[in-house]
Amino acid sequence: SIKNRYINQAEVYNEEQRQIILQEQMIMDEIQTAILQEDILIYVQPKYDIENNMIIGGEALVRWLHPKHGLISPSVFIPVLEKNGLITQLDDFVWEKTCQLLRELKNMHCLLPISINISRLNFYRNHLPLLLLDLVHKYELQPQDLHLEITESVYSKDTEVIYSVIEELQQLGFVILMDDFGSGYSSLSMLKDAPVDIIKLDMGFLSLKDDMKRSYAIIEAIVDLSYTLDLSLIVEGVETKEQVAFLQKIHAQYAQGYYFSKPVPVKDYINLCLENH
Ligand code: C2E
Ligand code: MG
Ligand code: MG
Ligand code: MG
Repeated sequence: SIKNRYINQAEVYNEEQRQIILQEQMIMDEIQTAILQEDILIYVQPKYDIENNMIIGGEALVRWLHPKHGLISPSVFIPVLEKNGLITQLDDFVWEKTCQLLRELKNMHCLLPISINISRLNFYRNHLPLLLLDLVHKYELQPQDLHLEITESVYSKDTEVIYSVIEELQQLGFVILMDDFGSGYSSLSMLKDAPVDIIKLDMGFLSLKDDMKRSYAIIEAIVDLSYTLDLSLIVEGVETKEQVAFLQKIHAQYAQGYYFSKPVPVKDYINLCLENH
């Protein structure tokens, strides 16, 4: 009957909700222990200069290897930690690990910058710029060794606070990347005055499902614009040979994506850097 069907659907819905709530609870309960036990680690995805065929650096991406639940994606646990204000503990850990790796690379004379992803909450922390400056100095690194990725949506809300912190970071020498550029609604107008050094073009533009002709025309226009505005541009999410050929044709210089390399464990990344020169 209609009534039974309704009840069954409600049960399914409740069960899904219940699983989500349980998972959120698990994440909040276990994150601290996971950090201490080093079940949390960083992988690094290299970035490439596709004109000169070289690695230009990498991006640190956090991984949670849960002893019981296996690999948990950051897309699952980062939003939960952001919602509950626990993200800064994770970030501190990721930043520390990234600087340790940079130090190791420097010792091996193959230092290239690595970027970290900075969540919105960090901009409301006291002295974020000084905190990061102390961190790089602790490892005898320069601010320009640690690139900072800030996702486009962070730029679009509470602009006054966000911009002033970013500008302070730039003055100290940190390099700022706008992540996921083009995923929001007001991307182009934002470029008018947003503090940014490098644009990362959202992988949505390369989607193979969409009308390729249109997507490719938009990519080409943005690449041209980046040259006009004197901003570097990295195209994210490059997966195929055809995409690389297109990017080379329109003189896009930098790219990142599975075609070149997935995010890899730290020791594999070190080997890639050693081979690079
Ligand atoms: P993001 O910063 O935009 O990172 C890119 C994501 O796309 C990564 O997923 C990466 O593995 C994936 N990716 C890279 N190349 C390709 C490709 O060619 N094809 C496809 N389909 N995917 C590709 P990941 O590692 O799961 O991270 C997801 C998001 O989680 C990141 O998006 C970032 O917003 C966030 N995140 C990851 N690590 C951290 C962290 O340490 N701190 C903070 N605050 N956020 C993080
Ligand atoms: Mg990123
Ligand atoms: Mg991105
Ligand atoms: Mg993204």
